[in-house]
Amino acid sequence: MKVKKFVLLGRKLSHSYSPVIHNLFFKQEKIHAVYELLEVEPENIKEVIEKLRSKIISGANVTVPYKEEVIQYLDHLTNTAKTIGAVNTIFLKDGEVWGDNTDYSGFKYSLNNLPMNFNNTKNFVCGAGGSAKAVLKALSDLGSENYLVTRDINKAKGGFKNFKGLNFIQYKDLEEVQDKNLIVNCTPCGMFPNIDNSVLPEELKPQFNGGYDLIYNPRETKFLKNLPISQNGLLMLVAQAIYADSIWFDIKVKDETIQGIYSKILNIVYDKETV
Ligand code: NAP
Repeated sequence: MKVKKFVLLGRKLSHSYSPVIHNLFFKQEKIHAVYELLEVEPENIKEVIEKLRSKIISGANVTVPYKEEVIQYLDHLTNTAKTIGAVNTIFLKDGEVWGDNTDYSGFKYSLNNLPMNFNNTKNFVCGAGGSAKAVLKALSDLGSENYLVTRDINKAKGGFKNFKGLNFIQYKDLEEVQDKNLIVNCTPCGMFPNIDNSVLPEELKPQFNGGYDLIYNPRETKFLKNLPISQNGLLMLVAQAIYADSIWFDIKVKDETIQGIYSKILNIVYDKETV
């Protein structure tokens, strides 16, 4: 049987855990497939999409810096990808190339891990980048009143026109908002090796019910320290990958599949055990 090939399309990928996650999934589900890293320059993105169209590649994930750039080469976007304006999963359907966004579903799934309520609560997302859009849509769909915390409100407003009712604030105004629930770090601040950085001042932490950092290296970022409830980005990383697999193989996502692979990845990432 022919081995199907899947790729992660990006620029600098050597530290990615995506191949480990997907290849664990393929092994566990007895799927004849392989997942590889594919570093490309912008001018070669089109070529990769054509390989998908001609079935040389069976599916792709997209990461920094191509999640928005890739859209021009696709035939269709799912409604989720349209709202977010970014694609992390590409698949072929009836000969046409589609883009979806499983950062959205992966983040939404990972919120189940937090003993918190998002409906009618005030939740805060730091950083006006691509990941913030997936996070904000997930929170909105759960009935949250969303605040985007940014260094530059005017600049941020241009990129978030699809997000009706979104509040824009600067970091210095965080203190004034009452009844703060979750704060999510969607900036690269605090990622290894810059572990002494955090966008959230220490003195504001008691005002939040909990925190979520999309970063997972280090395991506990400075942002997450001293927050009453906390979650890092590793579960989201695993869940977005399994949601992509569910699209490519047209199968239902099972909670035990995500949790099983997550517990293996936890060991690999933090205890450096081998697969
Ligand atoms: P990005 O586009 O590079 O940056 C997001 C935003 O962070 C920027 O637009 C900026 O917003 C803010 N920012 C950047 N540098 C800053 C600084 N020095 N101080 C304060 N704010 C700063 O990043 P992204 O693609 O959205 O990803 C954000 C993080 O999430 C990355 O660390 C990425 O690795 C991680 N991520 C994790 C997962 C997962 O599955 N766990 C998935 C996606 C992304 P303002 O200008 O508005 O302040």
